[in-house]
Amino acid sequence: MRRADPHPNLLPAGEGASVPSPQGGGVGRGLPLIRVEKLYKQYEIAGGQATPVLHGVDLTIAAGEFVAIMGPSGSGKSTFMNILGCLDTPTSGNYFLDGKNVAGLDNDALAALRNRLIGFVFQGFNLLKRVTALDNVALPLLYAGLSKNARREQAGEKLKQTGLENFALSLPNQLSGGQQQRVAIARALVNHPPLILADEPTGNLDSQTSQEIMGIFARLNREQGITIILVTHEPDIARYAGRLVRFVDGRVAHDGEVSGHVEQK
Ligand code: ADP
Ligand code: MG
Repeated sequence: MRRADPHPNLLPAGEGASVPSPQGGGVGRGLPLIRVEKLYKQYEIAGGQATPVLHGVDLTIAAGEFVAIMGPSGSGKSTFMNILGCLDTPTSGNYFLDGKNVAGLDNDALAALRNRLIGFVFQGFNLLKRVTALDNVALPLLYAGLSKNARREQAGEKLKQTGLENFALSLPNQLSGGQQQRVAIARALVNHPPLILADEPTGNLDSQTSQEIMGIFARLNREQGITIILVTHEPDIARYAGRLVRFVDGRVAHDGEVSGHVEQK
């Protein structure tokens, strides 16, 4: 069952430009959290030609969805994720995040939006090496104006949710790859974002560990209604999602059901 309630970090319906899903919505589907229209991206290379990467992507993702993005290497998946994450801007086209047109925002406003709405998980975990698991997780709370104790308490709760409460004081190099990714997921969750963007989060993990990590994402989606957009090369990983979007040459070549979807117990 998908949760229809808006996430607490989302604007209440009526504020911003949130409107009912133009697709009519499936059972329990929420309002559109992401809408991109005619999105184009080209990289300008100093002194050289521009490299066109995205060629007019249109996509709507509702709050509460779990979407897998697949496609050949170089097809623009990471470029698209960086734009969704407000880490990069499109060359042209519109991007509405939680009803807000991202195009008009300055860097401070983008950072505030990221902080409120988005948790990131990357292939390489991206943890600070000299900092404990607990303090890695607490890091995004630096901007929340909380005391150190309050930050650590919240970080500890998130480590518990990813099954790592006994490793709070470990350094990243004392943890396995799967454990490091659990720390990264806890860090992504610590601001209670309604959206998690994960770019090949299991790319460095063996298949057993990958399934465990996907179990965590599936549970967060199912139990907390967190919207998840996850890039993967592996069909076995994509099966945890409810929807598959396939990129080819910077365009959406397929958008639909995932074959062999994994139903979680
Ligand atoms: P994917 O994640 O699907 O493998 P990317 O979005 O990373 O694809 O890359 C798409 C294309 O854009 C590739 O040809 C890549 O070389 C190019 N590209 C990606 N990032 C940059 C950049 N910062 N500057 C120039 N070209 C880039
Ligand atoms: Mg990529």
